[in-house]
Amino acid sequence: MIDFEAASVAIILFAFLVFIFAYWKDATAEGFSSDRIFDSVFMIAVGSFFGGKLLFRNLSIDYLKYQLLTSPFILEGILIGGALAVSIAIKKNRWDGWKIGDMLAPALSMYQAILFLGFWIRTGQLSMLILLFCFGSLTFFIRYLKTNHKLGSSTRYFELKRLNRLTFTGGLFATYLTGSSLIAILFLLTHQNFSNRFWWFQFIFYFFILILSLFLIKRRLNIEGVRVNSFIEKIKSILVGRSKQIDKSVKDIVENDPFNVEASDGFRNEDELGEEVQDNQQHGISEAIKSELNDEKVMIKKSLSKIEKGTYGYCVKCGKEIDEKRLKAYPTAEYCMTCESKIAK
Ligand SMILES: [Zn+2]
Repeated sequence: MIDFEAASVAIILFAFLVFIFAYWKDATAEGFSSDRIFDSVFMIAVGSFFGGKLLFRNLSIDYLKYQLLTSPFILEGILIGGALAVSIAIKKNRWDGWKIGDMLAPALSMYQAILFLGFWIRTGQLSMLILLFCFGSLTFFIRYLKTNHKLGSSTRYFELKRLNRLTFTGGLFATYLTGSSLIAILFLLTHQNFSNRFWWFQFIFYFFILILSLFLIKRRLNIEGVRVNSFIEKIKSILVGRSKQIDKSVKDIVENDPFNVEASDGFRNEDELGEEVQDNQQHGISEAIKSELNDEKVMIKKSLSKIEKGTYGYCVKCGKEIDEKRLKAYPTAEYCMTCESKIAK
């Protein structure tokens, strides 16, 4: 797709440095250690170098000896080699691959935009300017999703989850895959060369990525998006059900309260002192149960309004999210397990 002979090494290096900086900045903001991120950057550099140099080459000793450094890079090789290196780094560090994908997405998109800026400066070709514009727009779009919709940020991810909005880890990565493969496919269609085997390879390569990314979006939404909805819905229905139950119990208690019954009778037998003591006791118990149920109802109302506001499920003491298992057992829980046990002491 790109004639890498036209690209100066300086631009590739500059683009790669920008990529490293963007990836490192996002990853450390998410709490990943700098050391491990730079470790993975080194692996990506090695992987994409050899990917870009070795894919579709006649791998002879002569090529490795004399042409390896001077031969042009192949972009698809860089992407494949880089992806392999990233997957090794993910395995090695036991990272969440979707999170890493979200952190790589804006960096990768920017990297490609800078590359095309370089090709355009070198060649002056209009198509390079269009590609620069496309990847520039994709970068802005991903950044917009990241800052305005808080995709790819785990703290905001849980907030969105509570707000019952469809969201999933890997959203930025899927956006990058879809956007970049669409750009590549459109570019290839406007530069048809059916007789060229490399053209077909590129077309199938990007078409495969496009299908893969659409499949990933659908699957991730099914796994996380639907679960998010059903979890909040479940909690909501438990709370509403319990609230109705309480209303009914309170009504029963009021109806059976001897004081209340007598009030409706209008008079009582003053002589039966023993009965009055019993009634007093009964009334006391009824009042106690009623106040307990009312307290519970206040908590339920509080939880329901928190669901509406999107603040449901956070510990009121430490601000951390409360475990879903705990919320299922005690939907009105206000403290996380750690704080609750500290309070109990
Ligand atoms: Zn807490």
